[in-house]
Amino acid sequence: MNMRHRRGIDLAPPVDYAVDLHHETLGSLQEMFVLVAACPVCLKSASIDRWELGRSVGKHITLANLAKKLKCSGCGNHAGNSLLLGKLPRD
Ligand SMILES: [Zn+2]
Repeated sequence: MNMRHRRGIDLAPPVDYAVDLHHETLGSLQEMFVLVAACPVCLKSASIDRWELGRSVGKHITLANLAKKLKCSGCGNHAGNSLLLGKLPRD
């Protein structure tokens, strides 16, 4: 997996983009957004392939429920992982 973020992608909590985690789903989230999971224990963050995830857990899961399912690939922690959003730069 490519862990590098392209220049110009700023990560911010979803609220900064006025995205409501309890209403927005994997399927409804605008395509320009990329998802990044952040672990509060080891501080690792990793980008999420939202399309692959949509195929495994379904596109109708809300982002709030998705955050609860996240498991850190670094330390295995699955509590309190948070989602960050980035916007893809427009070409
Ligand atoms: Zn971790």
